[in-house]
Amino acid sequence: MQYLPIFIDIKDRQCLLVGGGDVAARKATLLLNAGAKVEVLAPVLGAALSREHQNGRITYTNRGYESSDLTDCCLAISATDDRELNAKVATDAKALGIPVNVVDSPELCSFIIPSIVDRSPVMVAVSSSGASPVLARLLRARLETLIPASYGQLATLVQGFRDRVKARFSTSNKRRLFWEDVLQGPIAELLFAGKAEAARAALDNAITGTADSRYDQGEVYLVGAGPGDPDLLSFRALRLMQRADVVLYDRLVSAEILNLARRDAQRIYVGKQRAYHSMRQEEINDTLVRFAQQGKRVLRLKGGDPFIFGRGGEEIDTLAAQGIPFQVVPGITAASGCAAYAGIPLTHRDYSQSCVFVTGHQREGKLDLNWEMLSQPGQTVVCYMGLSGLPTLCQQLIAHGMPPQTPAALIEQGTTQHQRVFAATIATLPGIIGGADVHAPTLIIIGEVVRLHEKLAWFHPQADTDAKALI
Ligand code: SAH
Repeated sequence: MQYLPIFIDIKDRQCLLVGGGDVAARKATLLLNAGAKVEVLAPVLGAALSREHQNGRITYTNRGYESSDLTDCCLAISATDDRELNAKVATDAKALGIPVNVVDSPELCSFIIPSIVDRSPVMVAVSSSGASPVLARLLRARLETLIPASYGQLATLVQGFRDRVKARFSTSNKRRLFWEDVLQGPIAELLFAGKAEAARAALDNAITGTADSRYDQGEVYLVGAGPGDPDLLSFRALRLMQRADVVLYDRLVSAEILNLARRDAQRIYVGKQRAYHSMRQEEINDTLVRFAQQGKRVLRLKGGDPFIFGRGGEEIDTLAAQGIPFQVVPGITAASGCAAYAGIPLTHRDYSQSCVFVTGHQREGKLDLNWEMLSQPGQTVVCYMGLSGLPTLCQQLIAHGMPPQTPAALIEQGTTQHQRVFAATIATLPGIIGGADVHAPTLIIIGEVVRLHEKLAWFHPQADTDAKALI
């Protein structure tokens, strides 16, 4: 983080603005909106600042800047074309410990001014730390369309009830849960619909009518995080991720995805690796129960889909037995994600009428699968957790009658910026992979549909990275 975002109270305080042109006028408006007393110094005033002066909103001194002008100021902005003058204002202000901003010269600034979305008292400030003010403005424009105009009114309504809610609920966690219900539920909707009085009455009733014990019981969200690309999360997954108090996540959940969970949420890694379990399954099940019983909203975030080789069923089994409310959010499973991003349709009218998902996880060095069924023609076989068992998988399929030239692909870190696709046949794939430096997770797809990869591959992360570097 290059700058610390803070909001400063400058109400009724003296701020110095050096410069009289249009840019200075825009800064004056900002300072005035925040209630400051604005002192403008410039040899001449442009039209906009002249109007402010005539209306008595600013004080104006018709001369050049002197160091003593900073006395008693809480903040200074220099908005002139004169680089030397700008630098002098900056140096003087810094010497006095007064925050200073020089328009278009981040190197002279001790603070920078963000783009803002103003829904007073709600403010959203966006900054690119000076890297691209245009980007910050584009983002601000997008936020403008996302944040209802009446958000400010909503904040004002809520402000008036804070003390009562504090008295009503015994813990800060319960108060937060209550407010989240209010701000995302029917009370907020009433306000957005212009029914301010009805919203006030409903809030009044909700405070009186909601028992403290209402928030004793927590709940669990078993959420599929998809195969890697954060854009593949569902809206519901994202919404619940942003409500959670605790997040229990797996090895397959990337940092990028985890970053989308509520910032204050406690994050607990419970990932498993092939030969090493950092938290045993029973322990995970018990942890979910324990947190929910403490009234927490627990997010159990799993790679792909929780019900496909995810042991999601076992986790909610324990919850159901304990009577803990839960919901399950499907995720895009590795088979769908990798197939789509590798340009391999899992079914195809000409090549494959069915698709089967198997696990290549070996027990005591053995792969125990229904080889007769898997080696049938006209189907696609997708193998999860199959990297170390790949040679056995291919040998067994050939031994049970699958033609050795059957196309097969291994997709490494599918849907991510590190995706690689190795396409070959069941006879040649193990040799190719044995010689390549392949990193988990990997998925194997076997069947005639793999032929289509050559024509349909569309996702080229390396090329994209190069293209981005050019931009
Ligand atoms: N529940 C998950 C699967 C968990 S089992 C799902 O629905 O996708 C873990 C296996 O999933 C890995 O060994 C690998 O075979 C596969 N996998 C998960 N993400 C993957 C990815 N991004 N690329 C390739 N394979 C992946």
